[in-house]
Amino acid sequence: MAQKIVAGNWKMNLSSNEAKELMSNLNEKSFPSDVRTIVFPSSIYVDSIASTAKNTEVGVQNFSENDNGAFTGEVSIEQLRSVNVNIGLIGHSERRAYFKEGHEQLKNKVDHAIKNEFNFIFCCGEPLAIRENGDELTFVRLQLNESLFHLIKEQMMNKVIAYEPVWAIGTGKTASSDQAEEMHRNIRSWIEEKYDLETAESVSILYGGSCKPSNAKELFACKNVDGGLIGGAALKADDFNALIHSF
Ligand code: PEP
Repeated sequence: MAQKIVAGNWKMNLSSNEAKELMSNLNEKSFPSDVRTIVFPSSIYVDSIASTAKNTEVGVQNFSENDNGAFTGEVSIEQLRSVNVNIGLIGHSERRAYFKEGHEQLKNKVDHAIKNEFNFIFCCGEPLAIRENGDELTFVRLQLNESLFHLIKEQMMNKVIAYEPVWAIGTGKTASSDQAEEMHRNIRSWIEEKYDLETAESVSILYGGSCKPSNAKELFACKNVDGGLIGGAALKADDFNALIHSF
């Protein structure tokens, strides 16, 4: 059965003190034992935040697909491991849009993570124009086919996918539970088609896009929604805590 997960993407927000304060406020909360929680601070803070986190995993928003060496500005899996960080996001829509990360580079990141036994959340989702044309299923399927579905069954088992419609990220406009469930149901069925039912049922599919305490219960109640990848609402300990209690 797919694991329930609530993950917070802090993006390029918070000073060092603010990040520490947020983590210390989260440390005071008690989270249900059946929900996996992860926060993704800026990479400059992952070391200090990971060393103080009591009840959440700490991950990185981006990592290099290369081992090490002359890649100015990049962070390697080996470096992350050395500060006890074992999970990262791959293919967030902001990385795709602003840093031009395309299918091939994301496939390389997936392969690099698999080779190094580094966990990841693979993000996908369509921009507004694609949704308005009714092409969202084709678009998201292509993203998955090109960068993730080349894995073999053993590698695909228990992986985590975040469906984040770009038009809902940071806009305050959430996908309706029907829209989210339709996409999540399709993603699970593609996994079943490509692999098998066991694999499809093991993959956690998270929703992301203006998810907040006021709409999370309805979204998380959908059959194929296993939790959320949260941006803005993850910056407030009370909101993030409420989201974690929204199943
Ligand atoms: C995100 O960036 O992954 C995200 C879901 O952001 P927000 O919750 O702010 O829409």
